[in-house]
Amino acid sequence: MNVNTIINNLEAKHPGEKEYLQAVHEVLESIETIYNENPQYEAAKIIERLVEPDRILTFRVSWTDDEGQVHVNLGYRVHFNNAIGPYKGGLRLHPSVNLSILKFLGFEQTFKNALTTLPMGGAKGGSDFNPKGKSDAEIMRFCQAFMLELWRVIGPNTDVPAGDIGTGGREIGYLYGMYKKLQMENTGVLTGKGLNWGGSLIRPEATGFGATYFAKEMLAVNNDTFKGKTVTVSGFGNVAWGVALKVTELGGKVVTISGPDGYIYDEKGLDAEKIDYLLELRASNNDIVSPYADEFPEAKFIPGKKPWEVKCDIAMPSAIQNELNGEDAKKLIANGVQYAAEVSNMGCTPEAIEEFQKAGIPFAPGKAVNAGGVAVSGLEMSQNAMKLNWTTEEVDAKLHHIMSSIHEACIKYGTQSDGYINYVNGANIAGFIKVADAMLDQGII
Ligand code: GLU
Repeated sequence: MNVNTIINNLEAKHPGEKEYLQAVHEVLESIETIYNENPQYEAAKIIERLVEPDRILTFRVSWTDDEGQVHVNLGYRVHFNNAIGPYKGGLRLHPSVNLSILKFLGFEQTFKNALTTLPMGGAKGGSDFNPKGKSDAEIMRFCQAFMLELWRVIGPNTDVPAGDIGTGGREIGYLYGMYKKLQMENTGVLTGKGLNWGGSLIRPEATGFGATYFAKEMLAVNNDTFKGKTVTVSGFGNVAWGVALKVTELGGKVVTISGPDGYIYDEKGLDAEKIDYLLELRASNNDIVSPYADEFPEAKFIPGKKPWEVKCDIAMPSAIQNELNGEDAKKLIANGVQYAAEVSNMGCTPEAIEEFQKAGIPFAPGKAVNAGGVAVSGLEMSQNAMKLNWTTEEVDAKLHHIMSSIHEACIKYGTQSDGYINYVNGANIAGFIKVADAMLDQGII
């Protein structure tokens, strides 16, 4: 395999799909050596087969707002790869959604899900619908219209969607209601369900908790802990609040959160009361963070900026792809950052990753760090299949165990001869081997 040839061919076939090409490029660079050492992969054209999704469904979503105006959005579901289990991955509702973004996310999801050790393939879907400022009734009508198309290609053993940016418990509820109406079946067809109708304990906080458990392992490699560490976090969606809660519990101090309007710097650090306030703010369908500074006068709101200019020990980007670039990484390094754990999917640009690695700072990629969310989704599927519920302690212990095993896999495949743990290589190689070997076993399909 030659990485450049493959990327050039893909670029010609899919011009302009920059996020998708970026994600593929990163994985190919990591696996090039192992791929070329194992000719059975090349003989079965594993890479050519793995970089293209199995299929893509694109559809129109028409819905009516509270004033009676009709709106049209695009809906998608990308079935990326089901070599190791049913297609699995979230639904993103955000105005930036397009095919390139969903293909990058589906591709990443394939490796992430393989890392969890659970039997789940990779998928992603969503719409360019913007949930911000919409009423409850509008959200419901949109979700119902979306499911009127999606239901044909999903099922508990086929494809199990879940939440992602813009899709939380409320949206999963409306989607599930419509699926049930159409299919006349109560099954584990979606994850992130409500606790009293098939959901799993710990699922809402799983991505943030899992990310913190992973970062805890990164620190432990250096006999270090979260105690007394200053942590910068971006975003305040499904993920960031779980990070803030768990980091605080482990003795660290989260000093920033951010929204599209800017970031909050709270020198004293977030605590449970502040997190509750933010969750209320978010429940009102709002991802802006400036009101926090009015509520808690010790905090400062810095409009239009990202939190990477703040001095910290650990950076945990938790908002969206490419939110931390090379310049941001340089600022963090100059301010003495010791670890970078990417919680968002592909939150750091290739330039940022290069800066961290050049400086010898442990950097772990989203597909390893944020895998706790989909891992607990997998546990929700297990519970649904068995028709029983595990306790908080049981789910949390399993999540802990899964995050440790992902960290071990990164060490196994990513430790360089100079001792530096290249978590990017580790995660990509471990995920790739599992998926590629399953594809080999199953023949050319
Ligand atoms: N959207 C989440 C992710 O990026 C969760 C997916 C799931 O639970 O299926 O992994």
